Amino acid sequence: AMNENCLFCKIIKGDIPAKKIYEDDEVLAFWDIAPQAPKHFLVIPKKHISGPAAMTEEDEQLIGKVIRVGAAIAGENGIGDDFRVVFNNGAGAGQTVFHIHMHILGGRAMNWPPG
Ligand code: 5GP
Ligand code: ZN
Repeated sequence: AMNENCLFCKIIKGDIPAKKIYEDDEVLAFWDIAPQAPKHFLVIPKKHISGPAAMTEEDEQLIGKVIRVGAAIAGENGIGDDFRVVFNNGAGAGQTVFHIHMHILGGRAMNWPPG
């Protein structure tokens, strides 16, 4: 269900514009507004889940799809085979939007450890 106060639910609904890359009935991918790499996009489920720690067992397949779709569209969007996948959980870890989202970052050397 839509969360009235959630930025990403508003993007899903179309109330806030986004540069969409991929969309189906369950997931949406769009470019990050403040990219931290030459290529940086987000993949979200349309279901409102506040973050990884709020997932239940019934969300496992959906978030698996988020990962699969993100990896599959990276190659077609200028990223190639080398990219970083990030889920931030909690404000102390840098989560600022409390609708679960996967970052995919690439287009440059993605060093490890990330710091
Ligand atoms: P977090 O810090 O919660 O892991 O990631 C939230 C991400 O959402 C950030 O990278 C931020 O730049 C991005 N973001 C925040 N507001 C918007 C927006 O209105 N549109 C888009 N496309 N990205 C946004
Ligand atoms: Zn939401």
